[in-house]
Amino acid sequence: MLLLEKLNRRFPEQFSRIQNSNMSTNQSPVFCEIDLDAEGKHHGYLRLPHSVHRSAYGWIPIPITSIKNGEGPVVLLMAGNHGDEYEGQIALCSLSKEIAQQDINGQIILLPMANFPAAKAGMRTSPLDDGNLNRSFPGNPMGTPTQIIAHFIESELVKRADYLLDIHSGGSSLLYIPSALLTIDSDPSQHQANLALVRSIGFPQALLFEQSGMEYYSSSAAHRNDCVAITLEVAGGGSIDQAALKLLHRGLSRYLTHIGINIALSEDEGLDKDPTHTEESTIKSAITTGTFTHTPNAIENQDIEGNGETEFLSISTEASYCYAYGSGLFEPLVDLGDQVVEGQPAGFIHDPETPWKEPDQLYFRGEGKVVARRVPARVERGDCLFEIAGKAAS
Ligand SMILES: [Zn+2]
Repeated sequence: MLLLEKLNRRFPEQFSRIQNSNMSTNQSPVFCEIDLDAEGKHHGYLRLPHSVHRSAYGWIPIPITSIKNGEGPVVLLMAGNHGDEYEGQIALCSLSKEIAQQDINGQIILLPMANFPAAKAGMRTSPLDDGNLNRSFPGNPMGTPTQIIAHFIESELVKRADYLLDIHSGGSSLLYIPSALLTIDSDPSQHQANLALVRSIGFPQALLFEQSGMEYYSSSAAHRNDCVAITLEVAGGGSIDQAALKLLHRGLSRYLTHIGINIALSEDEGLDKDPTHTEESTIKSAITTGTFTHTPNAIENQDIEGNGETEFLSISTEASYCYAYGSGLFEPLVDLGDQVVEGQPAGFIHDPETPWKEPDQLYFRGEGKVVARRVPARVERGDCLFEIAGKAAS
C-alpha cells in the first residue's frame, strides 16, 4: 500500500492510467474510435495517447477502416508497418474508398499506416522511439509508441482476424521483384492451402521461409492467434512503380475473392484512370522509365493479366544474403532476376576517399536467383546488398 501511495505521489498521471486499467498490465491504452463489431463501413482513428510538450493530452491518429457485412471471414489488410514502403499504403487508400458494405461477406479491416509515426516521416522505423514495428510483436501496452502499436495490432486486430495480409516493399534501401512471403506451416494440409492462397495473388514469385524461431514479426503475431499470414514485398526503392502497383491491386482483389470475402471490385479500379493509357503501355512505360528499368525479365515473364505462374523459391540459409564488408560506393555486377552461383563476383565497393586503392570485390556465397538488391550506392559494413533464393522443394 505504501508503494502505491508513493507511486501516486511521484507519477500521478501514469498511476491514474494504471488504476483505470485495474492494474492490468495487458490493457491497451489505445482507444479505437470505431466499433469493430458494428455492421457497415466505418472510418476513424486509433488514438495512441502521446503526452508531449506541445500537446499535454494529445494522441497519435492511426487511420483505420472497418467494412463489415454479416458473417464471413475476417481479414486484416495492413501497410505502413515500415513507413518508407509506399505501395501498400496507396493500395489500401484505394480499397477504403472503393469497397462498399454490400460488396463483401464478412469483414475487412484496413490499416494503411500501421506504424503511423514512421509512415508519416517516410521512415522504416519510428522517429519517436526508433521502433521497428515488424520486430516488435507481441508488443507491450506499457512500452514505447511502437511497442504499444504492436500490442494493439496483435491483441485487438490480429486476434479477431482469420487472415492477415501485411504489405511491405524493399523500402528506401532495397528493391524486390514483387514477391509473396510465406512461412512453411508444420501442418502439410494447411501449408498446401496457404500455397493455393499465395498462387491466387498472382505475383511472379513466392519466397518460402522455414519457421525461424524469431517471434517478433507480424506473421508471428498471426501464428500465435491462429490467423493465416502472408507478407508481400511489392517493389520498393523509396518510390512507386505503376506496374508493381497494378500487380498489387489485382493481387488484393484475387486474394479477397479466394478467401471468400467475394469482393465485387474492378481489378484495375483506382490505379490507372487515364483512358489514354492502355494496360500494355502502362506496363511498358514502367519497365523503361520506372524502377523496373533494371528488372525487365521480372515483369516480362509475368502475364500482364496476372495469370502467369508463381515461381516458388526458398530462402533458407545465411548464404542467401550478400553483405558489404567495406564502406564506400557499391557497384553491382548483377541485376534482379539473374541466376548466380557460389563464388560469382557480386559487385565492387569503391573508396573515392582513397582513389588509388583497389576496390573491394564481393562474391556470392550461395546459388540462386537474385530476388532483391540494394538501391543506394553509398554503403557501410553490414549493409545487405543482395538477397538470393533457390528453387523451393516441391
Ligand atoms: Zn517492410
